[in-house]
Amino acid sequence: MFNIKHLTSLLISSILLTQTTWADSADKIYHINGKTMGNNYKVSLVANSMTPQQLYLLREDIELKLEIVNKTMSTWRKDSEISKINAWPADKPIYISNELKIIILASKKVEKITSGAFDITVGPLVKLWGFGPDGIPTAIPSVDSINQVKSYTGSSNFSLMGNNYTKKDSRLQLDLSGIAKGHAVDILADTLDSKGIHHYFVDIGGEVFAKGYRPNKENWIIGIEEPKKNSTHIITTLSINGKAIATSGDYRNYFEAEGGKFSHVINPKTGRSIQTNIISATVIAPKCATADALATASMVMGTKAIMQLADEQDLAVMLIEDNFGELKIHQSKEFKKFITQ
Ligand code: ADP
Ligand code: MG
Repeated sequence: MFNIKHLTSLLISSILLTQTTWADSADKIYHINGKTMGNNYKVSLVANSMTPQQLYLLREDIELKLEIVNKTMSTWRKDSEISKINAWPADKPIYISNELKIIILASKKVEKITSGAFDITVGPLVKLWGFGPDGIPTAIPSVDSINQVKSYTGSSNFSLMGNNYTKKDSRLQLDLSGIAKGHAVDILADTLDSKGIHHYFVDIGGEVFAKGYRPNKENWIIGIEEPKKNSTHIITTLSINGKAIATSGDYRNYFEAEGGKFSHVINPKTGRSIQTNIISATVIAPKCATADALATASMVMGTKAIMQLADEQDLAVMLIEDNFGELKIHQSKEFKKFITQ
């Protein structure tokens, strides 16, 4: 079983390519580990036999695919395509890659479903709150500065016609951090599929896609840990086949000021960092990009709105609320279908 929140620490391993044989099966499980987007990644795949050379080549391909994602959508890299379009002037179309177009369109889809809770134009607000690439969050910005920055956020401030991207305000900045990790997981899953590998588990920093079976011919089982520092208590275990899981939580990336806890997730409507009693939101979806973005949006929407949406749209959502030290778990009908016990 893989424990989502614990995964990162478990997987920090100097062994890049390892293999385990199951006693009663000819299938073996192979692991490929590495680093991307400030996280560890892990690909586990089940096959009858793979030579070290084949594994080496597969790892090279995985690294290449991750490099393409980063070079396209990392705001943390000055030479990325997203950094280039963020520095682009207003009212002058710029031709963007298909890779970037696909992720912008996927983001806009989630923006629509979530009534604007997921919004990739929050970049300047993320910076204002000190969570951007060059920021250190320390204090709460003034209402005036929030309103000023908010005046040029919102997806009506850019257009995408085919591959032509045009900003209406030069200060508009796209931030794909809320969806990029999930998208990278999808890219790795596609890569494995295209090589005829159909039994695998891909994880980037806790965003997961699992398909097929483990060497014992059972589905991949994923344990969701209690989202608390040093906790290893498993809240629920999920059986996943051909689906992605993403978790969003505020206990890793936040700052405390004036008696409050401020998250790196921004409510696009208020321009403010969210303060919520939801300590984690987990979403299961066919694509990891969607799951990732919906998990972030869940934190913004709050329990009532996201659980209602989950019911209406058959979304698989689990929230964990911390009500003054007492944890309360909400699971949508669709989510319950994946629970194993
Ligand atoms: P989490 O796992 O906490 O959801 P993610 O890494 O998925 O975190 O996304 C958080 C990042 O997304 C932030 O650091 C910020 O760059 C960006 N972001 C913040 N608020 C929003 C929002 N409302 N919509 C889209 N992206 C956001
Ligand atoms: Mg997310």
